[in-house]
Amino acid sequence: MPRIAYVNGQYVPHQDASIHIEDRGFQFADSVYEVIALMGGRLADEQGHLDRLERSLKELSISMPIGRRAMQFAVREMVRRNRQKDGMIYMQVTRGTAPRDFKFPQHKNSALVMTFYPANFDVALRKAAVKKAITVPDIRWKRRDIKTTALIAQVLAKQAAAEKGAYEAWMVDEEGFVTEGSSSNAWIIDKKGNLITRPTANNTILKGVTRSALQALCKKEKIKIVERPFTVAEAYKAKEAFTSSAVALIAPVVEIDGRKIGDGKAGAITCKILDMYMDYAKDHGRKQEGWHPK
Ligand code: PMP
Repeated sequence: MPRIAYVNGQYVPHQDASIHIEDRGFQFADSVYEVIALMGGRLADEQGHLDRLERSLKELSISMPIGRRAMQFAVREMVRRNRQKDGMIYMQVTRGTAPRDFKFPQHKNSALVMTFYPANFDVALRKAAVKKAITVPDIRWKRRDIKTTALIAQVLAKQAAAEKGAYEAWMVDEEGFVTEGSSSNAWIIDKKGNLITRPTANNTILKGVTRSALQALCKKEKIKIVERPFTVAEAYKAKEAFTSSAVALIAPVVEIDGRKIGDGKAGAITCKILDMYMDYAKDHGRKQEGWHPK
């Protein structure tokens, strides 16, 4: 079954999908992206991801390449043509192709590309696949609320993690507080069972769509979330820890910088939250929670 990609209105075999060498996404990382999980045939939190895409574009004055409805249609067409029920849709919008010049081009022909990746959302597997994290200094720019493809800091962080046998790198600000994972939001659970995660104010982190859904779901389940920064020292002593993202969903973190978290297994609360999120995301009859910039 050939994988199908989308390039500016065309559905093409993945291996043939290409853009011009003067695309501004390639030259300046002048582009934004989203990743949407396809779980059991349902696009998890699709509305939230498209809301955030529109917001990222607006913040950078990049025009929407096609209208929202057309985009939803194209995403569904990607699902249909790739003939899978589980996977990831990666979408990227760039400011388009123009002779290399830092300032915006005259035209507003932004470009849209999409790729599909198969994925396995087996819950038991995910609980067993516990993850290690390391901490690294957060060396990024100050608009982390915008989901741009300028990801070099995260590339270095993830590589540092991989070299230590870890999955994720939790980035740490100058005061010693964890900001977020290189491709996820960071959470710890204290002895009382409260979930702690950094607030999104001041643009110091990306406001995760999965994070927003968890907030809404936890509210319904009366699980308390405390939005406050936490230090690395506090994370070491946490009862449980996990990351949230569209790609890894709710991923238990059982070791940070070589220190065991809790009993070194996926925590009970983390597992409950993963189950809760999976039930919500896969349920075709359930309304999506949505995402707001503030
Ligand atoms: N923070 C960063 C830096 C990320 O790259 C991601 C994943 N895109 C997230 C948080 C989680 O966001 P979401 O839940 O929307 O995937």
